[in-house]
Amino acid sequence: MKVLVTGGAGFIGSHTAEALLTRGNSVVVVDEMNDYYNVRQKEENLLILCATAEKHGSRFKFYRADCSDARQMETIFAAERPDIICHLAARAGVRPSIADPFLYVQANVTGTVTMLEMAHRFKVKNFVYASSSSVYGSNTKVPFAESDPTEKPVSPYAATKKACELMAQTYHHLYGIPCTGLRFFTVYGPRGRPDMAPLMFVDKISRGVPINRFGDGSSSRDYTYIADIVSGILASIDNPHPCEVFNLGNSGVVRLSHFISVVEAAVGKKAVINVLPDQPGDVPTTFADLTKSARQLGYRPTTSIEAGIRKLVEWYAAQAQRRESGETASAVKGYSWGEA
Ligand code: NAD
Repeated sequence: MKVLVTGGAGFIGSHTAEALLTRGNSVVVVDEMNDYYNVRQKEENLLILCATAEKHGSRFKFYRADCSDARQMETIFAAERPDIICHLAARAGVRPSIADPFLYVQANVTGTVTMLEMAHRFKVKNFVYASSSSVYGSNTKVPFAESDPTEKPVSPYAATKKACELMAQTYHHLYGIPCTGLRFFTVYGPRGRPDMAPLMFVDKISRGVPINRFGDGSSSRDYTYIADIVSGILASIDNPHPCEVFNLGNSGVVRLSHFISVVEAAVGKKAVINVLPDQPGDVPTTFADLTKSARQLGYRPTTSIEAGIRKLVEWYAAQAQRRESGETASAVKGYSWGEA
């Protein structure tokens, strides 16, 4: 089975590609390697994928390409003919989407339509894509079920994710492509995104740098550990559904003030906190109802916030030590970089 993973150099994409290679699948990663956060982390993620492929005797190929560019995608699909698309590439982040909505529409909406077109033209058997808990907007009736209203997004980012769900529904209707949209809830863990609170807080608290806390600390998030998310993605890849969306969360609400204390305990230092007003585009709470994903995907997250944050801190400490000693990720033989 050959799976084309877009955004495979990023956080969730690299963990997904690693899991696929570990179980022996062929993986083609398409990633434009943008500088939304440091490119070095993405390059290191790719080296991990090369090493994983080598270790497990799986085939891995990487294309640096923009998945909203139909010509580039045609070339790659004609060369690779993947069985399955796992479309995780996107411009992530709520606040920057308010500053540059055009960029988000291009990357997220045009990117998803382009991949759906490829799925249609190249007869892909299953299309799995990243949606987001942000589609629930500022709903306050918790937990959020997939059938809850999603027509009132509060940021351009959230609106692009809802648009992706609508385009997937359309392509399923027109061409019968099996499409599964996964609404991720605040994902964290090793190789996490430095713009998100979990890694940002671990980094700043470890270094004694003040953290910004927006609001009074009562906002809450359903933080979900990366390994649990990957288990839901693999289940969706393996079990095509005609056209569905599923929540992938942890179904455990953590208040921001408690989250900071969990990070403090894992790092072993007190945070210095700047209190700032709530930010436009932020929502007060997220909380996943997992009834549907448990029933239809067998999705059952197992990582508590305390255990997950401990793993993140361990990874962070190992990274810091490695960088301090001047060691860089070693080059790996035997992988191929495609041309597009
Ligand atoms: P990430 O930024 O680490 O990964 C996204 C990757 O996509 C990056 O490596 C980037 O270079 C690549 N990319 C972006 N636009 C591209 C394009 N046009 N062509 C090719 N590559 C492109 O983000 P992530 O946290 O791993 O998120 C993965 C997916 O999950 C995204 O679709 C995101 O919207 C969604 N999501 C993430 C979270 C979370 O908590 N991390 C929550 C909800 C939804």
